[in-house]
Amino acid sequence: MIHKNLVILTGAGVSAESGVPTFRASDGLWEGHRIEAVATPEGFAANPALVQDFYNQRRRHLATVQPNAAHRALADLAARWDGDFLLVTQNVDDLHDRAHAETPPASGFELIHMHGELNKARCTASGVVCDWTGDLEAEQASPHHPRGRMRPHIVWFGEMPLAMERIEAALERCDLFVSIGTSGAVYPAAGFVQLARMACARTVEINLQPTQGARLFDEGVYGPATEAVPAFVADL
Ligand code: NAD
Repeated sequence: MIHKNLVILTGAGVSAESGVPTFRASDGLWEGHRIEAVATPEGFAANPALVQDFYNQRRRHLATVQPNAAHRALADLAARWDGDFLLVTQNVDDLHDRAHAETPPASGFELIHMHGELNKARCTASGVVCDWTGDLEAEQASPHHPRGRMRPHIVWFGEMPLAMERIEAALERCDLFVSIGTSGAVYPAAGFVQLARMACARTVEINLQPTQGARLFDEGVYGPATEAVPAFVADL
């Protein structure tokens, strides 16, 4: 079957083999921390030093990891794809970005970080987002507003994911939807497969093992992303 409009959703599993730990690997803890403590606005208000330090460590760790064969296979696909290709990632790392920088994509390609990016910071007063590759201090003053502080440009639980209108519009007209390395436990991303089904798209899940929502997909491809994704892309 020829596909024209592709939407791919990725989660922490696509970066796991690069050495970026997934979310739920250890009973709901993220790198030893409760999710509420490091990934909610309330956690940030209660202990800004802890939260800034948590993301400072994740940001520093990025410099030590590289895109893997799954990121590169998707970048190769984006370079060759003759149609619309929206890559939506829940990941806040920059491994997709780096893979696509090595292999520039065709004109119909777009990458959206729906949960924000570690290498960016946001002013709490003006909302201005800027590149930020160093550490953030607990009460980091904003260069954009006299009363603003800079916080990680990360969508925390209870906050609205980014670019949802753009993503939903692409899902409504896609004919192939592929979900890679995501547990399907975090909404709204977990609901994307239903929107794709309403568009009568072919739906495929790629993961280490079937997820809770596996029955919503037409097909499942199971194995490590660095093997399963290149094989799937080669078959396309
Ligand atoms: P998750 O941790 O909930 O689930 C990871 C999924 O990946 C699981 O289903 C697991 O079976 C699968 N997986 C693990 N290793 C794999 C591999 N080698 N190959 C294929 N699949 C593999 O992650 P999620 O669903 O992305 O959850 C959501 C939240 O975690 C997001 O909000 C995201 O922002 C955040 N997060 C991001 C990163 C990152 O930026 N890399 C890392 C951890 C958490």
